[in-house]
Amino acid sequence: MAKKTGSKARIRRFLKQHTGKTVTSRQIQQAAGDVAEWARRLRELRAEGWHISSHNDRADLKPGEYVLETDPPAPGQYTFAHTISGRLRAQVLERNGYTCQMCGIGAGDPGEDDRPTRLHVGHIVDRKHGGKDELFNLRTLCSTCNQGAKNLVQEPPGRIWLLSQVRRASIDDQRAVLKWLKLKFRNRS
Ligand SMILES: [Zn+2]
Repeated sequence: MAKKTGSKARIRRFLKQHTGKTVTSRQIQQAAGDVAEWARRLRELRAEGWHISSHNDRADLKPGEYVLETDPPAPGQYTFAHTISGRLRAQVLERNGYTCQMCGIGAGDPGEDDRPTRLHVGHIVDRKHGGKDELFNLRTLCSTCNQGAKNLVQEPPGRIWLLSQVRRASIDDQRAVLKWLKLKFRNRS
């Protein structure tokens, strides 16, 4: 465990020293101390909001080339539900592919304000409502969706209020709601 933390800290330091410059996977691996899991450490850094580009993000990069685009977020900006252990968080991030489970944005992708997206590991059923710190009750969400999800979990909208909102909406938006509902109930009712 201590060794893993060490390799991640070394990658952090190496990337920071090369912010805005292209580095190769070999250089990162060497900086990490030649550990096999350097790629996983890199994914973790992205999940922590480090804006690291690869050839998937930029056409001018070759496979195996990476760029830390901007100075990384200050430590502690990466927020989680406090009760979740580091190990469980890592499992959730890994299972959810380091992407927001609502809108699909990836950790480190430019989000609102063009700032790198930070992912949160949070409860699907809130603890207040009996949800537990278990793998199947946890998921990754970006900050934006996390805030929306909090509202959803707290209090589902009442039917009368919901209908009144739909009635007030434009015809186009009502059609969009109808389309969504038809899609949702296509194979039922
Ligand atoms: Zn999202």
